[in-house]
Amino acid sequence: MTVHSGVLATGAVVAPPVFTSIAEERAHRKGRLAVAYRLFAQLGYDHWVAGHITVRDPELPDRFWVNPFGRSWRHLRASDLLLVDLDGHLVAGEGAVNAAAFAIHSEIHRARPDVTAIAHAHTRSGRAWSATGRALEPLSQDACAFYGDHALFDDYTGVVIDPEEGKRIAHALGEAKAVILRNHGLLTVGHSVDEAAWWFITMERSCQVQLLAEAAGKPVFIDQEQAEVTAGQVGGHFAGWFSFQPLYDRIVAEQPDLLD
Ligand SMILES: [Zn+2]
Repeated sequence: MTVHSGVLATGAVVAPPVFTSIAEERAHRKGRLAVAYRLFAQLGYDHWVAGHITVRDPELPDRFWVNPFGRSWRHLRASDLLLVDLDGHLVAGEGAVNAAAFAIHSEIHRARPDVTAIAHAHTRSGRAWSATGRALEPLSQDACAFYGDHALFDDYTGVVIDPEEGKRIAHALGEAKAVILRNHGLLTVGHSVDEAAWWFITMERSCQVQLLAEAAGKPVFIDQEQAEVTAGQVGGHFAGWFSFQPLYDRIVAEQPDLLD
């Protein structure tokens, strides 16, 4: 039995790719971003026109790729993605950029050079849990990925279109992997699209589980010591990347046109 940054396995496990050129890495990031949008759509996360997932360009760290505003995530292709700089200028691609996507994501990309990708969507359980104004508790193994590693943005001031509000969200996020935006939804970050998307998916499900558990009674939480151990097992960068791989395989097998 080996432990690879929290993933328990016998034998070799797949590892993040290594690139021989910037062009190859850029194509990879755009492909992963298109996959994340298609997957979020399949999971029902494409509420209204809200939400956005972004990935930093591998060559130009002050630019990031994002979806064209108002276009269906269900049919998005890698070639549809837009490149935007941190000041909101469209650098490549055709379409409009959601003002909220720019206001929030640009400030987080600016504040967190370690962050490659950011995911945000208005999902049902994330929104419902956010309205409690509470952080998630360690009441399941999966929720322990967020133990001591997520924040609460305990404010709501309307649709975020002002970069100053994006700065406040980035400040609340701090060095964590996720932030609950009160009365709004969830936001997660990662060293890859894979990781940010996985944290988002498992955080949305953790919100659902806590809502269900508290509706049914008074849940028993995992104690602090075990929550910390479990966080080390399921909450690392590699574990986040690794957990996304079956979902990537599924969407690409079902919808190969997304990589066009
Ligand atoms: Zn939003």
